[in-house]
Amino acid sequence: MRLPNYYAAPGFERAGLRRRDPDWLREQVADSRSQFVPVWRSQNLVVDLAGAEPCAALVTVETVSLILGGLDDPDAHLAHGRIVFLGVIDERAHFALDLSAVEAPLDMLRDPALAASGIPAEALRFADLRQLAGRLPRHEGALLAFARAMLFWHSRHRFCGLCGSPTLSEEAGHMRRCTDPACKAMHFPRTDPAVIMLVAEGERVLLGRQKSFPPGMYSTLAGFVEPGESLEDAVAREVREETAIEVDAVVYHSSQPWPFPANIMLGFHARAVSTEITIDPGELEDARWFERSWLLAHVDDDSFRLPRRDSIARRLVEDWLAGRIEL
Ligand SMILES: [Zn+2]
Repeated sequence: MRLPNYYAAPGFERAGLRRRDPDWLREQVADSRSQFVPVWRSQNLVVDLAGAEPCAALVTVETVSLILGGLDDPDAHLAHGRIVFLGVIDERAHFALDLSAVEAPLDMLRDPALAASGIPAEALRFADLRQLAGRLPRHEGALLAFARAMLFWHSRHRFCGLCGSPTLSEEAGHMRRCTDPACKAMHFPRTDPAVIMLVAEGERVLLGRQKSFPPGMYSTLAGFVEPGESLEDAVAREVREETAIEVDAVVYHSSQPWPFPANIMLGFHARAVSTEITIDPGELEDARWFERSWLLAHVDDDSFRLPRRDSIARRLVEDWLAGRIEL
């Protein structure tokens, strides 16, 4: 069985039916066994000890109560999307916790209750999940990605897109409804589809780099799916626009949640039917054909490196290099 892409968590129990069970939710928020995933301005809380790989830092209701100044009214925190129900792991409810309104949450986390759990306060930090680039255990990467994505959506949907009135969260954070009684529009968390594709021709693969990439990094091409467009058409259009290469035989590979900030990456491979590259300098700094044998022999350095290990781009290239993608 092949591994799912990083940030995906098959089997994670989202317990969707519990989202409409306010009594159960109230109980779980107050339960000392429940776990909260703190997010501060799109950054996740991690334990980062020198000499060790980072791991997710989850907190319990005691710490949450301390930071929020009490938890007497959990419904209010749920209604404002500060607490969002994520799901159940090992029979313990897990919630995303938005600490963005707190100016210096780390100071508040230096609390005896947390220290008692054995984590030194100085080991805690808020980090950009992307910068950790797959160093967290997979299940933690998926949980933190989910929490980050949900709270990002809440932060961008506090007002109704139809009438401009404030919205409030329902269904434990999985829907926001307009508070204007004449409107009551429902808004749901969204994830925007983007296609990402490995394009090959015989023993060569097409990789490009954007100016914003780390030094030497080349990656598979990618782009957003537009309204009124099939995924296959989006693949062909993006490759044509960015490099003037024509493709056929577009085949689905796998997908990856990509909450940076709100995407799902849909991975494909496609066969090139032309070879002359003309880049769109607005999108790419460079694009080239790379031979399989050269890629297999090369060790990443500042002249050339493959995409980050947490990305589906890396997965596509490695699967092709290993002969798992036939074109
Ligand atoms: Zn409205």
